[in-house]
Amino acid sequence: MARDPRYDVLFEPVNIGPVTAKNRFYQVPHCNGMGRKHPTAMAVMRGVKAEGGWAVLCTEQCDIHVTSDTEREIRLWDDRDIPYLARMTEEVHKHDSLAGIELTHMGYHAGNYMGREVAMAPSGKPAYGNMPFHARTMDKTDIADYRRWHRNAAIRAKKAGFDIVCVYAGHSLSLPMHFLSPRHNHRTDEYGGSMENRVRLLREVIEETKEAVGDTCAVVVRIAMNEMMGPKGITPEIEGRAVMEMIGELPDLWDVNVADWENDSQTSRFSEEGFQEDSIRFVKSMTSKPVVGVGRYTSPDKMVSLINGGVLDMIGAARPSIADPFLPKKIEEGRPEDIRECIGCNMCVGTANQNTYMRCTQNPTMSEEWRRGWHPEIITKKDTDDRILIVGAGPAGLEAARALGQRGYNVMLAEAGQELGGRVARESRLPGLSAWGRVRDWRIGQLHKMPNVEIFMDSQMTAESARETGANLVAIATGARWRRDGSGRYHDYPMESASTHAAKIVTPDDIMAGAELEGPVVVFDDDHYYMGGVIAEKLIADGHKVSLVTSDATVSSWTAFTLELGRIQARMRDLGIELHLNHVLSAIDSDEVEITDVYSGSTEWLNAGSLVMVTAQDPVDSLFHELMADEAANQAAGIRRISRIGDCYGPGPIAAAVFGGHRYARELGEPIGDDVPWKRETIELAAEV
Ligand code: ADP
Ligand code: SF4
Repeated sequence: MARDPRYDVLFEPVNIGPVTAKNRFYQVPHCNGMGRKHPTAMAVMRGVKAEGGWAVLCTEQCDIHVTSDTEREIRLWDDRDIPYLARMTEEVHKHDSLAGIELTHMGYHAGNYMGREVAMAPSGKPAYGNMPFHARTMDKTDIADYRRWHRNAAIRAKKAGFDIVCVYAGHSLSLPMHFLSPRHNHRTDEYGGSMENRVRLLREVIEETKEAVGDTCAVVVRIAMNEMMGPKGITPEIEGRAVMEMIGELPDLWDVNVADWENDSQTSRFSEEGFQEDSIRFVKSMTSKPVVGVGRYTSPDKMVSLINGGVLDMIGAARPSIADPFLPKKIEEGRPEDIRECIGCNMCVGTANQNTYMRCTQNPTMSEEWRRGWHPEIITKKDTDDRILIVGAGPAGLEAARALGQRGYNVMLAEAGQELGGRVARESRLPGLSAWGRVRDWRIGQLHKMPNVEIFMDSQMTAESARETGANLVAIATGARWRRDGSGRYHDYPMESASTHAAKIVTPDDIMAGAELEGPVVVFDDDHYYMGGVIAEKLIADGHKVSLVTSDATVSSWTAFTLELGRIQARMRDLGIELHLNHVLSAIDSDEVEITDVYSGSTEWLNAGSLVMVTAQDPVDSLFHELMADEAANQAAGIRRISRIGDCYGPGPIAAAVFGGHRYARELGEPIGDDVPWKRETIELAAEV
């Protein structure tokens, strides 16, 4: 199909200093957990995005010197780091796209746990977060060293084939930004005090990078114009304006965001698409150079309006490019309805923060491009005439049906209920989670184009009815249900008083199904991801008095990885939810529950008309076991293999259910076997020891 002429503007080339981007789609730097440790997987992932039409593909942060040492990202410490990065530029260049590298010195953010160097800062201070070190004040020699290291790294980047070298002054985690920010820079020499002095280092580094590699490489700046903490930090009105007035024309492009990372990569639970627009518009108004901005943009109409409205020149994206590496191609080919939109859940960030291959809720092929050979758009055609029955249309069942349909199989998708989407449909009705419905919507949109996939609603399957379908392969995707007996992480066994007082106990499933609750409500969160906090939020919005009891020191503690932890704590307090941290539910009575401090063992009683258990989930797998119990009947019905997928196999986040569905479609439930089921980068022993 031809592209809609309204979107032509998105495919105009953009000059960035000495290089030209073939269109306006710019994948900004983003971490991915693969980096230096899994460099081919990282390189191929970027290459697949280039194939998908992104004109610019940037690396994650690249440490330039041993005094900035983060284990999980990439490095250009010396020439030995060039070859693996050259692999990425080769992959990107295969598709006529530009490769960019984000040169970074993290200053007082650098843990330096590996190299054990003392971290550095404009003014000495405790290292970031809770690291038990101090960063030392940089003297003039350190500043000169830093400038030389940056220059050397730029030269190595050019040797590795990069077209764009990014001077990183964003996210409150790089030296040029620390020098700019009044809260980090208390110097009294020519690098501190006046605005001109605080901008000096950034100016010098841009100038020196241009001088070193600017003949063939574009030199761009990634900068946070707002630390979102008022005058204590960088503000657009003061530092932002001064930077743009002083050096607005110096780099070849401005890549604008806000600091810190929690503010920049906000989830859809806490921010709308485009929430950074004011910062981007401001920079654009102050320079003639091209401006890139991010904001989880996935709609081509919105993108066109941003460009025509003079807000930015290039559509920056990290998460939308992860959720759909082929987003630009789909617009170019006139099929924007095929775009798999990011849901803003930050599972990508949360898993990259585990220092390994990131995963994406919407895109199960993310990080699997090289090691499992999974292409986001291409899947091998069917190699048998099997008919496949999938039971349950949650994220696992929908994804399995979609990908099997793409392979050309005849698929029957049977759903007991009257709506598709399973837990995604239910959870997207909880406060702040409506964007999660995109997981269902995209898959339904794709399925409706597939004549070989039949969807049966209101179809509660039994072993007997499954055998009557004529399917050869059966995938049970019937999900999971929250337990109501208190057992989970803290309690290894069901709580005795849970059966005595079962009438007052509800689960998230009951609440999502519309259960009416009595009196003050106590939520016991022993799960630690989003559900406990979201349920508390819903109940207080429904007018209940709510207490949240959690065995952890914070509410929803796993969301530290998805960058939501701070906002969740603030929201709980703003809403007036009574928090009992480091406490567990220890007994249940008719009008009260007893809670116990996990450290001291001291107890107290809370009024509780209702008690919500957010503890553990049980797979809904009775149909699977019923089927498995009668092998002869299965054989007679022509069923060769029965598999469990998604939450029915192992309850977890939606991303895991989507992955399980996709994997089933690729492998048709083949057992894992003894061999590692993916490729690994070989580890070579050093020649020098
Ligand atoms: P997952 O996250 O693994 O996809 P969900 O809980 O979201 O699981 O979805 C499971 C779906 O399976 C629900 O929509 C539920 O109605 C459906 N389901 C459960 N049991 C049956 C059954 N016996 N027959 C058909 N559908 C079923
Ligand atoms: Fe978007 Fe979530 Fe995928 Fe990240 S994991 S790219 S936030 S859908």
